[in-house]
Amino acid sequence: MASSTVLRNFIAGSFTDSAELHEVTNPATGAVLARSPLSCQADVDRAIAAARGAHKAWARRPAVERAQYLRRVAARIRDNAARIARTITEEQGKVLGLAEVEVNFTADYLDYMAEWARRIEGEVITSDRANEQIFLLRKPLGVVAGILPWNFPFFLIARKMAPALLTGNTIVIKPSEETPINCHAFTELLAQCELPAGVFNVVYGQGGTGAALAGHAGVDMVSFTGSVATGERIAAAAAPHITKLNLELGGKAPAIVLADADLDLAVRAIRDSRIINTGQVCNCAERVYVQRQVADEFTARIAQAMAATRYGDPIARPDVEMGPLINQKGLDSVQAKVRQAIADGAQLVTGGQAADLGAGFHFQPTVLAGCHAGMEIMRKEIFGPVLPIQVVEDLDEAIALANDCEYGLTSSLYTRDLSKAMQAMREIDFGETYINRENFEAMQGFHAGVRKSGVGGADGKHGLYEYTHTHVVYLQG
Ligand code: NAD
Repeated sequence: MASSTVLRNFIAGSFTDSAELHEVTNPATGAVLARSPLSCQADVDRAIAAARGAHKAWARRPAVERAQYLRRVAARIRDNAARIARTITEEQGKVLGLAEVEVNFTADYLDYMAEWARRIEGEVITSDRANEQIFLLRKPLGVVAGILPWNFPFFLIARKMAPALLTGNTIVIKPSEETPINCHAFTELLAQCELPAGVFNVVYGQGGTGAALAGHAGVDMVSFTGSVATGERIAAAAAPHITKLNLELGGKAPAIVLADADLDLAVRAIRDSRIINTGQVCNCAERVYVQRQVADEFTARIAQAMAATRYGDPIARPDVEMGPLINQKGLDSVQAKVRQAIADGAQLVTGGQAADLGAGFHFQPTVLAGCHAGMEIMRKEIFGPVLPIQVVEDLDEAIALANDCEYGLTSSLYTRDLSKAMQAMREIDFGETYINRENFEAMQGFHAGVRKSGVGGADGKHGLYEYTHTHVVYLQG
């Protein structure tokens, strides 16, 4: 990507220039990669008008036809996978192997959602009246606004666009200002697939562009992935129009390690969880509750595994397991949270500092022991490679601590005891629980959080139907 590259909005099937631009940089080197639009209210208005204008004709097409477009985009993505993966690594900082997983997962996701074309089902219900049938029809909502974060920027385009388009909606996407280049690459591939103009549109920019979308009277659903704070603002912006919301927000995933756990597995999975995408993942383990009998051994082993992590610029050093944090603000936030935890009494076992590698926003893999429920480090999301550990006496205490949290996205448990696993299934109040495995959702599951982690969910049948409303028809005759 040349620094002179200028990205453009995609509205009504055409790439259009924007009056204002901002620079997009590589978080590992600081190099300018491209200039991206700061789309204005008029761009947003035009994009929504284009999506509105395209909606009726798109919704009238059979779902199998709509699915064909998803499959075409998937095929184009596979043909360009290596190039796109490098783009993601350059602008977001994740290691190339993970970027490749993201790109292939995106293509698979589009194909998976396309498979639903022949499976969208309504219902027919018997009536209280003679000669009457009650039909429940699944219908598209209209225009969806998809507002994205930067941490899985390419996949999240598909996670919103595929179910929206398949069910007959049209969409306006706004990627994060940190990662617009991969979205432009996605759009260039999509533009080769002869999708009808206006079905898929992209505007770029910061919170102001997102707010213009969220508060727009022409939007029927806001599908947002990002932080709780922004989710609150989006809910407020959408309130005057009572716009439907789908909010995938932050997490503070507890990992419970019981005395009978396979410690090799627990150490490997939790360590990987903290370094994948440099700890910048909503669903990955962010606080450990370890049973006293194995606490010292677990802490020593995970500290050793974290300390051994190779990190640096993922393009210059393809052997690294972890890249930089997204930006200076992210680095400052992680550093401040670690300092606060130490000031609150946490014991620093390894790491704890920003790492000076000459350039980039690198942070040492960090383990903090002796944490307790009163500390912010055990309660607030931390987007970085930092693992706080608290010792517990038993599963009851661990579940109580896990549930006592404003977030409720994912959770995990390591035990060989089936009855303990069953107890956790009954009592842990989270959208997702992983037992004896890493935190990573399947596309046929349902990714959703309770409490402040969100409203609604994504993936699978239930995620698909989020993009529909139910129309009830009473037919007599
Ligand atoms: P963010 O909330 O700062 O930004 C997300 C998007 O919202 C960006 O496109 C941004 O420009 C836009 N935005 C900012 N202010 C806005 C406003 N007032 N109105 C409308 N849009 C606005 O989040 P981020 O830093 O990009 O991403 C990290 C966060 O995302 C973390 O909290 C993480 O847990 C969460 N996340 C959640 C999931 C999930 O599935 N639950 C997945 C990935 C990331």
